[in-house]
Amino acid sequence: MAAVLRSASIAFQERKRAAAVSGTTRTETESTRVPEDQPSADASDAPATLSALAAAVDRCTRCPLYRHATQGVAGEGPKSARIMLIGEQPGDQEDRQGRPFVGPAGRLLDAALDEAGLDRRRLFLTNAVKHFKFTPRGKRRLHQTPTTGEVDICRWWLDRERALVQPDLIVTLGATALRGVTGKSASIRSMRGHAVELEGGARLVATVHPSFLLRMPDRERAAQERTAFVADLVRARTLLA
Ligand code: SF4
Repeated sequence: MAAVLRSASIAFQERKRAAAVSGTTRTETESTRVPEDQPSADASDAPATLSALAAAVDRCTRCPLYRHATQGVAGEGPKSARIMLIGEQPGDQEDRQGRPFVGPAGRLLDAALDEAGLDRRRLFLTNAVKHFKFTPRGKRRLHQTPTTGEVDICRWWLDRERALVQPDLIVTLGATALRGVTGKSASIRSMRGHAVELEGGARLVATVHPSFLLRMPDRERAAQERTAFVADLVRARTLLA
């Protein structure tokens, strides 16, 4: 079953990548979209598989963010994953490739996971918001933080992913991910360093987003923060041991 899910997911990602490479635009794919007045948060509409969910995310028009993004980027990883890592939103590379954590922040995350003794292939990686929000600046697309309203609307998808994967442990990367899971604005500092029990039985470990480390101008401080980040990932691993 897992192999079927994986191959369906890979086929879907390939179609999305082909659309991105061929330059298919939002307008060209608009006719395939779920209308903007689609029924809202009704769990009975929930896709039954991760590949169906990924296809539905790509058609989603619940908030305006789909309009300028290349595609919706759903989570990736085995349905049997015990740990779910949640970031903020797809970045420029993720938006183009249709996969989470494949840009510079993803590479930093991969290195930190290695150091922490976690195998990315056994984790489920996703984002609180599934479409890339950005400001065009010449040929570049500069990241824009999603609003709390956009995070709250997109939580419907995050909740469906959580329901399908049923992770034992959730690691939130950054404040947006924390809001995506808890529905509340809380500082990472107040949540960091200990596991929090979530409704439904999973535990939550809060840490920073790897892009926060990339943006730090002070190299010494960045190195300290990176060490703390890896320590949070080690904590996540040992919590499940
Ligand atoms: S960001 Fe989330 S809620 Fe908004 S259109 Fe994309 S998938 Fe839908």
